Amino acid sequence: MHAMVLRAARAPLEMVERELPSPGLQQVLLRVRACGVCRTDLHVVDDELPGVPHPIVPGHEIVGEVVACGPGAGLAAGDRVGVPWLGWTCGACEYCRSGRENLCGEARFTGYQIDGGYADHVLADARYCLPLPAGLDEAHAAPLLCAGLIGYRALRMTGDARRIGIYGFGAAAHIVAQVASYQGRDCLAFVRPGDENAAEFARRLGCSWAGSSDERPPTPLDAAIIFAPAGSLVPAALAAVRRGGTVVCGGIHMSDVPSFPYALLWGERSIRSVANLTRRDGEEFLALAPRIPVRTEVTTFALGQANEALARLREGRLIGAAVLLPGA
Ligand SMILES: [Zn+2]
Ligand SMILES: [Zn+2]
Repeated sequence: MHAMVLRAARAPLEMVERELPSPGLQQVLLRVRACGVCRTDLHVVDDELPGVPHPIVPGHEIVGEVVACGPGAGLAAGDRVGVPWLGWTCGACEYCRSGRENLCGEARFTGYQIDGGYADHVLADARYCLPLPAGLDEAHAAPLLCAGLIGYRALRMTGDARRIGIYGFGAAAHIVAQVASYQGRDCLAFVRPGDENAAEFARRLGCSWAGSSDERPPTPLDAAIIFAPAGSLVPAALAAVRRGGTVVCGGIHMSDVPSFPYALLWGERSIRSVANLTRRDGEEFLALAPRIPVRTEVTTFALGQANEALARLREGRLIGAAVLLPGA
Protein backbone atom coordinates (compact mmCIF):
# COMPACT_ATOMS: atom_id res chain seq x y z
CA MET A 1 0.00 0.00 0.00
CA HIS A 2 0.99 3.64 -0.38
CA ALA A 3 0.65 6.37 2.24
CA MET A 4 1.63 10.02 2.63
CA VAL A 5 3.59 10.06 5.86
CA LEU A 6 4.53 12.91 8.21
CA ARG A 7 8.03 12.02 9.48
CA ALA A 8 8.75 15.16 11.50
CA ALA A 9 7.00 18.35 12.61
CA ARG A 10 6.42 20.79 9.73
CA ALA A 11 8.09 18.47 7.19
CA PRO A 12 6.44 17.87 3.82
CA LEU A 13 4.55 14.57 3.69
CA GLU A 14 6.43 11.76 1.95
CA MET A 15 4.94 8.98 -0.15
CA VAL A 16 5.99 5.60 1.29
CA GLU A 17 5.24 2.02 0.37
CA ARG A 18 4.17 -0.26 3.20
CA GLU A 19 3.08 -3.85 3.71
CA LEU A 20 -0.72 -4.12 3.60
CA PRO A 21 -1.76 -4.61 7.28
CA SER A 22 -4.15 -7.32 8.49
CA PRO A 23 -7.17 -6.24 10.54
CA GLY A 24 -7.08 -7.27 14.22
CA LEU A 25 -9.95 -7.80 16.64
CA GLN A 26 -12.97 -5.65 15.65
CA GLN A 27 -10.91 -3.93 12.94
CA VAL A 28 -11.52 -3.57 9.23
CA LEU A 29 -9.07 -2.96 6.42
CA LEU A 30 -10.50 -0.35 4.07
CA ARG A 31 -9.59 0.71 0.57
CA VAL A 32 -9.66 4.51 0.77
CA ARG A 33 -12.02 5.87 -1.90
CA ALA A 34 -11.72 9.50 -0.83
CA CYS A 35 -10.22 11.42 2.09
CA GLY A 36 -11.03 15.02 2.88
CA VAL A 37 -8.34 17.52 3.87
CA CYS A 38 -9.25 19.27 7.11
CA ARG A 39 -7.71 22.30 8.83
CA THR A 40 -6.89 19.96 11.73
CA ASP A 41 -4.47 18.16 9.40
CA LEU A 42 -2.52 21.43 9.19
CA HIS A 43 -2.43 21.58 13.01
CA VAL A 44 -1.06 17.99 13.03
CA VAL A 45 1.60 18.81 10.42
CA ASP A 46 2.53 22.05 12.21
CA ASP A 47 2.74 20.29 15.62
CA GLU A 48 0.09 22.57 17.10
CA LEU A 49 -1.65 19.66 18.86
CA PRO A 50 -0.04 17.98 21.89
CA GLY A 51 2.09 14.87 21.35
CA VAL A 52 1.80 14.30 17.61
CA PRO A 53 3.66 10.99 17.04
CA HIS A 54 6.01 10.56 14.07
CA PRO A 55 5.67 8.97 11.63
CA ILE A 56 1.91 9.46 11.26
CA VAL A 57 -0.44 9.36 8.29
CA PRO A 58 -2.93 12.30 8.49
CA GLY A 59 -6.53 12.24 7.29
CA HIS A 60 -9.81 11.79 9.19
CA GLU A 61 -12.54 12.31 6.60
CA ILE A 62 -12.31 8.87 5.06
CA VAL A 63 -14.77 7.22 2.71
CA GLY A 64 -13.66 3.60 2.56
CA GLU A 65 -14.70 0.27 1.19
CA VAL A 66 -14.21 -2.78 3.40
CA VAL A 67 -11.73 -5.24 1.88
CA ALA A 68 -11.04 -7.45 4.95
CA CYS A 69 -12.59 -7.89 8.38
CA GLY A 70 -10.95 -8.93 11.65
CA PRO A 71 -12.82 -11.09 14.20
CA GLY A 72 -15.99 -9.47 15.50
CA ALA A 73 -15.89 -6.52 13.10
CA GLY A 74 -19.56 -6.93 12.11
CA LEU A 75 -19.07 -5.55 8.59
CA ALA A 76 -18.66 -7.33 5.26
CA ALA A 77 -16.31 -6.97 2.32
CA GLY A 78 -17.74 -4.37 -0.06
CA ASP A 79 -19.48 -2.32 2.66
CA ARG A 80 -18.91 1.41 2.32
CA VAL A 81 -18.26 3.29 5.55
CA GLY A 82 -17.03 6.63 6.82
CA VAL A 83 -14.10 6.95 9.23
CA PRO A 84 -14.18 10.16 11.27
CA TRP A 85 -11.80 11.86 13.72
CA LEU A 86 -13.03 9.86 16.76
CA GLY A 87 -11.17 6.57 16.35
CA TRP A 88 -11.42 4.93 19.76
CA THR A 89 -12.68 5.66 23.30
CA CYS A 90 -12.31 3.80 26.61
CA GLY A 91 -16.02 3.09 26.96
CA ALA A 92 -15.70 3.06 30.76
CA CYS A 93 -15.11 6.62 32.01
CA GLU A 94 -17.80 9.02 33.22
CA TYR A 95 -17.85 10.81 29.84
CA CYS A 96 -18.13 7.60 27.81
CA ARG A 97 -20.95 6.34 30.02
CA SER A 98 -22.94 9.59 29.82
CA GLY A 99 -23.11 10.07 26.05
CA ARG A 100 -20.10 12.40 25.97
CA GLU A 101 -17.49 10.07 24.50
CA ASN A 102 -16.12 13.08 22.59
CA LEU A 103 -14.64 14.21 25.93
CA CYS A 104 -13.08 10.83 26.89
CA GLY A 105 -9.58 11.45 28.29
CA GLU A 106 -8.28 8.24 26.71
CA ALA A 107 -9.82 8.87 23.28
CA ARG A 108 -7.65 8.26 20.23
CA PHE A 109 -8.11 10.15 17.00
CA THR A 110 -7.78 9.17 13.36
CA GLY A 111 -4.96 10.85 11.48
CA TYR A 112 -3.47 12.10 14.77
CA GLN A 113 -2.79 9.10 17.03
CA ILE A 114 -4.01 6.45 14.55
CA ASP A 115 -2.78 6.34 10.95
CA GLY A 116 -5.41 8.01 8.77
CA GLY A 117 -6.69 8.26 5.24
CA TYR A 118 -3.90 9.98 3.29
CA ALA A 119 -3.26 6.48 1.92
CA ASP A 120 -4.79 3.97 -0.44
CA HIS A 121 -5.61 1.61 2.48
CA VAL A 122 -6.29 2.18 6.17
CA LEU A 123 -7.15 0.12 9.26
CA ALA A 124 -10.12 1.27 11.33
CA ASP A 125 -11.98 0.08 14.42
CA ALA A 126 -15.30 -1.06 12.99
CA ARG A 127 -17.19 0.17 16.09
CA TYR A 128 -16.29 3.77 15.20
CA CYS A 129 -17.01 3.53 11.46
CA LEU A 130 -20.14 5.39 10.36
CA PRO A 131 -22.75 4.15 7.91
CA LEU A 132 -22.83 6.30 4.77
CA PRO A 133 -26.05 7.20 2.98
CA ALA A 134 -26.46 5.43 -0.35
CA GLY A 135 -26.23 7.58 -3.45
CA LEU A 136 -23.65 10.05 -2.17
CA ASP A 137 -20.59 10.08 -4.34
CA GLU A 138 -17.34 9.49 -2.51
CA ALA A 139 -15.55 12.79 -3.11
CA HIS A 140 -18.59 14.82 -2.05
CA ALA A 141 -19.30 12.62 0.99
CA ALA A 142 -15.78 12.93 2.46
CA PRO A 143 -16.11 16.51 3.82
CA LEU A 144 -19.28 15.52 5.68
CA LEU A 145 -17.14 13.34 7.96
CA CYS A 146 -15.45 16.20 9.81
CA ALA A 147 -16.36 19.59 8.39
CA GLY A 148 -19.98 18.43 8.34
CA LEU A 149 -20.00 16.65 11.68
CA ILE A 150 -18.17 19.32 13.66
CA GLY A 151 -20.22 21.99 11.92
CA TYR A 152 -23.41 20.16 12.87
CA ARG A 153 -22.32 19.82 16.51
CA ALA A 154 -21.33 23.52 16.60
CA LEU A 155 -24.68 24.52 15.11
CA ARG A 156 -26.49 22.44 17.74
CA MET A 157 -24.61 24.34 20.47
CA THR A 158 -26.29 27.56 19.28
CA GLY A 159 -29.63 26.19 20.56
CA ASP A 160 -32.61 27.87 18.93
CA ALA A 161 -30.67 30.90 17.67
CA ARG A 162 -32.30 32.33 14.55
CA ARG A 163 -29.60 34.72 13.31
CA ILE A 164 -26.24 33.02 13.21
CA GLY A 165 -22.94 34.57 12.24
CA ILE A 166 -20.25 32.26 10.86
CA TYR A 167 -16.63 33.43 11.11
CA GLY A 168 -14.35 31.74 8.56
CA PHE A 169 -16.17 30.54 5.48
CA GLY A 170 -14.38 27.31 4.58
CA ALA A 171 -15.37 23.65 4.43
CA ALA A 172 -17.33 23.50 7.71
CA ALA A 173 -19.13 26.79 7.16
CA HIS A 174 -20.28 25.89 3.66
CA ILE A 175 -22.04 22.82 5.08
CA VAL A 176 -23.40 24.55 8.20
CA ALA A 177 -24.93 27.31 6.08
CA GLN A 178 -26.97 24.71 4.19
CA VAL A 179 -28.13 22.94 7.37
CA ALA A 180 -29.02 26.24 9.04
CA SER A 181 -31.03 27.43 6.02
CA TYR A 182 -32.87 24.09 5.95
CA GLN A 183 -33.76 24.64 9.61
CA GLY A 184 -35.17 28.07 8.76
CA ARG A 185 -32.34 30.04 10.34
CA ASP A 186 -30.71 33.16 8.93
CA CYS A 187 -26.95 32.87 8.27
CA LEU A 188 -24.48 35.73 8.02
CA ALA A 189 -20.92 35.09 6.85
CA PHE A 190 -17.79 36.85 8.11
CA VAL A 191 -14.78 36.32 5.84
CA ARG A 192 -11.15 37.46 5.83
CA PRO A 193 -11.02 41.17 5.01
CA GLY A 194 -10.80 41.47 1.22
CA ASP A 195 -11.72 37.83 0.44
CA GLU A 196 -14.47 38.63 -2.08
CA ASN A 197 -14.45 35.02 -3.42
CA ALA A 198 -15.41 33.64 -0.01
CA ALA A 199 -18.08 36.33 0.46
CA GLU A 200 -19.57 35.53 -2.95
CA PHE A 201 -19.48 31.79 -2.15
CA ALA A 202 -21.34 32.44 1.13
CA ARG A 203 -24.06 34.47 -0.61
CA ARG A 204 -24.44 31.71 -3.21
CA LEU A 205 -25.04 29.20 -0.39
CA GLY A 206 -27.89 31.27 1.00
CA CYS A 207 -26.23 33.58 3.54
CA SER A 208 -28.34 36.73 3.78
CA TRP A 209 -25.27 38.89 4.39
CA ALA A 210 -21.55 38.43 3.83
CA GLY A 211 -18.94 40.86 5.03
CA SER A 212 -15.53 41.17 6.51
CA SER A 213 -14.73 39.74 9.97
CA ASP A 214 -13.90 43.23 11.24
CA GLU A 215 -17.36 44.54 10.32
CA ARG A 216 -20.44 44.58 12.52
CA PRO A 217 -23.52 42.79 11.16
CA PRO A 218 -26.52 44.99 10.16
CA THR A 219 -28.37 43.83 13.31
CA PRO A 220 -27.03 41.89 16.32
CA LEU A 221 -26.65 38.10 16.04
CA ASP A 222 -28.34 35.51 18.28
CA ALA A 223 -25.21 33.36 18.10
CA ALA A 224 -21.89 33.10 16.33
CA ILE A 225 -19.76 30.13 15.30
CA ILE A 226 -16.03 30.67 14.80
CA PHE A 227 -14.28 28.21 12.48
CA ALA A 228 -11.22 30.34 11.67
CA PRO A 229 -8.30 29.60 14.05
CA ALA A 230 -7.83 33.26 15.07
CA GLY A 231 -8.39 34.09 18.75
CA SER A 232 -8.96 37.76 17.90
CA LEU A 233 -12.32 36.71 16.44
CA VAL A 234 -13.65 35.84 19.92
CA PRO A 235 -14.04 39.46 21.12
CA ALA A 236 -15.18 40.45 17.60
CA ALA A 237 -17.93 37.82 17.69
CA LEU A 238 -18.93 38.73 21.27
CA ALA A 239 -19.36 42.31 20.11
CA ALA A 240 -21.65 41.11 17.32
CA VAL A 241 -24.02 38.95 19.42
CA ARG A 242 -26.96 40.30 21.36
CA ARG A 243 -27.48 39.94 25.13
CA GLY A 244 -27.90 36.27 26.02
CA GLY A 245 -26.13 35.19 22.83
CA THR A 246 -23.54 32.43 22.49
CA VAL A 247 -20.20 32.35 20.72
CA VAL A 248 -19.19 28.80 19.75
CA CYS A 249 -15.54 28.07 18.90
CA GLY A 250 -15.55 25.18 16.46
CA GLY A 251 -11.83 24.66 15.88
CA ILE A 252 -9.45 22.31 17.68
CA HIS A 253 -6.73 24.96 17.82
CA MET A 254 -6.83 28.73 17.99
CA SER A 255 -4.25 31.46 18.47
CA ASP A 256 -4.45 33.13 21.90
CA VAL A 257 -7.62 35.05 22.63
CA PRO A 258 -6.66 38.68 23.34
CA SER A 259 -7.92 40.34 26.51
CA PHE A 260 -11.15 42.26 26.08
CA PRO A 261 -13.44 44.46 28.19
CA TYR A 262 -15.83 42.55 30.43
CA ALA A 263 -18.67 44.58 28.90
CA LEU A 264 -18.42 42.33 25.81
CA LEU A 265 -19.28 39.26 27.89
CA TRP A 266 -21.72 41.05 30.21
CA GLY A 267 -25.40 40.58 29.48
CA GLU A 268 -25.27 36.80 29.84
CA ARG A 269 -23.32 36.27 26.67
CA SER A 270 -21.36 33.03 26.72
CA ILE A 271 -18.36 31.53 24.99
CA ARG A 272 -17.94 27.79 24.52
CA SER A 273 -15.92 25.37 22.46
CA VAL A 274 -16.93 22.26 20.57
CA ALA A 275 -14.62 19.28 20.94
CA ASN A 276 -14.52 16.28 18.60
CA LEU A 277 -17.70 14.33 17.93
CA THR A 278 -19.69 11.43 19.27
CA ARG A 279 -20.82 8.49 17.14
CA ARG A 280 -24.34 9.70 17.74
CA ASP A 281 -23.52 13.06 16.10
CA GLY A 282 -22.24 11.08 13.13
CA GLU A 283 -25.31 8.92 12.79
CA GLU A 284 -27.70 11.88 13.16
CA PHE A 285 -25.89 14.15 10.75
CA LEU A 286 -25.29 11.50 8.08
CA ALA A 287 -29.00 10.65 8.16
CA LEU A 288 -29.95 14.34 7.91
CA ALA A 289 -27.49 15.39 5.17
CA PRO A 290 -29.18 13.58 2.24
CA ARG A 291 -32.61 14.88 3.28
CA ILE A 292 -31.53 18.55 3.01
CA PRO A 293 -29.68 17.62 0.72
CA VAL A 294 -26.25 19.00 1.64
CA ARG A 295 -24.22 19.65 -1.50
CA THR A 296 -20.52 19.95 -0.82
CA GLU A 297 -18.20 21.85 -3.11
CA VAL A 298 -14.90 20.04 -3.52
CA THR A 299 -11.55 20.38 -5.24
CA THR A 300 -10.00 16.95 -5.81
CA PHE A 301 -6.33 15.97 -5.71
CA ALA A 302 -4.43 12.72 -6.28
CA LEU A 303 -2.86 11.16 -3.17
CA GLY A 304 0.61 12.33 -4.20
CA GLN A 305 -0.66 15.93 -4.29
CA ALA A 306 -1.48 16.00 -0.55
CA ASN A 307 1.18 18.65 0.14
CA GLU A 308 -0.30 20.87 -2.57
CA ALA A 309 -3.80 20.45 -1.09
CA LEU A 310 -2.51 21.38 2.39
CA ALA A 311 -0.65 24.41 1.00
CA ARG A 312 -3.78 25.67 -0.72
CA LEU A 313 -5.82 25.23 2.46
CA ARG A 314 -3.16 27.07 4.47
CA GLU A 315 -3.15 29.98 2.04
CA GLY A 316 -6.93 30.16 1.83
CA ARG A 317 -6.82 29.32 -1.90
CA LEU A 318 -9.68 26.84 -1.80
CA ILE A 319 -13.40 27.21 -2.23
CA GLY A 320 -15.24 24.57 -0.19
CA ALA A 321 -13.21 21.47 0.68
CA ALA A 322 -10.12 19.70 -0.66
CA VAL A 323 -10.45 15.95 -1.13
CA LEU A 324 -7.75 13.37 -1.95
CA LEU A 325 -8.70 10.55 -4.30
CA PRO A 326 -6.12 7.79 -3.76
CA GLY A 327 -7.48 5.76 -6.67
CA ALA A 328 -7.00 8.61 -9.16
ZN1 LIG B 1 -13.81 7.20 28.11
ZN1 LIG C 1 -11.33 17.65 10.81
